[in-house]
Amino acid sequence: MKPPKKIKVGGHYYTIVLKEEEFASSSHEDTILVGEHVPMNSQIRLCIKGSNQFIARILLHETLHAIFDHQGIDLPVKEEEDLVNRITWGLSTVIADNPVFVKYLQTNLKG
Ligand SMILES: [Zn+2]
Repeated sequence: MKPPKKIKVGGHYYTIVLKEEEFASSSHEDTILVGEHVPMNSQIRLCIKGSNQFIARILLHETLHAIFDHQGIDLPVKEEEDLVNRITWGLSTVIADNPVFVKYLQTNLKG
C-alpha cells in the first residue's frame, strides 16, 4: 500500500512529498536523508526506496517529529532523534501487532 498524500497532526495538514531516491536535507545540504519533516512548508518528505515496512516506519518517525513540533517539544537534535527512534519502534510494534486496538482507538478517539 502506498503512503497517504497527506496527514493531519493536531489539526494541521502535512503534504507527503514522495522522493524516488535519498535526498539532501532542506537545512543541511551535505546531509542525505530518507525522511524529513519540514514544518515551514508543512511537508513530510519521504524516500520510497525500500520495503513497505521501512517506508511506513520512516513516515511514522517523521510524523512523530511533526507531533513534537506541534506540541512545542524542543530537544537537542540528538536527544530528539533518539527519543523519536525509540517511540517509533515501540509504536510500530504496537500498531502492527494490535489491529483491534488500533481500530478501537481510531473509532473512539474521534468521539
Ligand atoms: Zn528523525
